[in-house]
Amino acid sequence: MRSVLRNLFLCTGLPDGFIPDGALVLEGSRIAWVGPVAAMPEQPEGTAERDLGGRVVIPGLINTHAHGGMSLHRGCCDEGDLFQWAAALAPTTAHLTLEDNRWGSAIAVAEMLRNGVTTVCDCTRFGAGIFGEVASGMGMRSLSGALANSPSLRSAGRPNWPLALEETLEAMRAQSGNGLCRHYLGAHSPYNCTPELLREVKDAAERHGLPFVIHLAENRRETEMIIERHGTTPLRHLHRLGLLDRNSILAHCVWLDEEELDLLAASGAGVAHNPISNAKLASGIAPVKAMRARRVPVGLGTDGMLSNNAQDIFAEMKFGVLLARATSLDGYALTAADAFAMATIEGARVLGWDDEIGSLEAGKQADLVVLDLDHPLGLTPHRVLSDLVFRAGPQHVREVLVAGETVFVDGRLLRVDEAALRARISRLYCEALPA
Ligand SMILES: [Zn+2]
Repeated sequence: MRSVLRNLFLCTGLPDGFIPDGALVLEGSRIAWVGPVAAMPEQPEGTAERDLGGRVVIPGLINTHAHGGMSLHRGCCDEGDLFQWAAALAPTTAHLTLEDNRWGSAIAVAEMLRNGVTTVCDCTRFGAGIFGEVASGMGMRSLSGALANSPSLRSAGRPNWPLALEETLEAMRAQSGNGLCRHYLGAHSPYNCTPELLREVKDAAERHGLPFVIHLAENRRETEMIIERHGTTPLRHLHRLGLLDRNSILAHCVWLDEEELDLLAASGAGVAHNPISNAKLASGIAPVKAMRARRVPVGLGTDGMLSNNAQDIFAEMKFGVLLARATSLDGYALTAADAFAMATIEGARVLGWDDEIGSLEAGKQADLVVLDLDHPLGLTPHRVLSDLVFRAGPQHVREVLVAGETVFVDGRLLRVDEAALRARISRLYCEALPA
């Protein structure tokens, strides 16, 4: 089906891609044409038309790192650094069931769609196929999988490899032909995985043509642990094992020195930058300016609801810029344009999905967010970008389209009865839990 969206302030996600009196032509799941309404070619008779009343339209936001399956336990531990926090959570996370994962994923997907996030890279430990099934059912795009870990290095829980591989291959079979679902193979981290397991997971990813996801250099103690065990730093350790290439997605990368930044840039790997999670867990501040100066693809991530606790990429844009500036005393450390690019096209590049998503261009998937923004002096490209990064939030999201389909509009998710979902979760869990 072909339709025209007109009277919109377009932000295509490309440099200088602001079109105040724009139009979009959608054909099925894709964008057929984009540009100023005055230049729009005549459309065939019967083409549906909608007037968006001058609203701002941006590419769907991309969350490059999350753990949706843990969302039921939001707020269960809000203090401590990464390792203190993980130890405090262990009694809860070690016993998460596949059903917990499923309901938690649904909560996370509902929140992300409401917040204008149309694509996420999600991580779990068990049930690699669950997130993609839940997300695509609610109309969201995902790159999902499970992060392997070595039982000898992880105190709690059962081993999950090669189970994660089997689950992923099964999910790929079950979800083949579902354009909203992509999969990866991943390993939790250099400190939770032996070198042999890391290499085995990467080999399997290469064999099946999948991205490889890992947490890397998140916390200073991680660096000390890896130096103690392997005589080198986390990124160099992965480099020596041959794990870094353009199909690798590295979450965090807070603790990197200059030489590691060069190794990272030469490898082509992408980085998921999680500024709020890194600050909350006292991990530090990733050297994003230095990464971007070396043309490392950097996207924004929320991390899971246990370490953030929201799934809000608007908040990550603003906080990421403020954090970089406040700590470097450099007012240009990150610009609004940098933040918006990281939330859209660069995030897509990190996920290896930029041929299909991340910007509003003819031929790409029609993943877009309609926002209610205004300005006392009227909207201009500068004011729109300024508001998108320093002012906007989920409260401004009016409508969300994924693959050309409206999945959220006027406060309501269209593919799921959210009230029924929440009531069911409440019945299942709250009656069994102490108040
Ligand atoms: Zn993570």
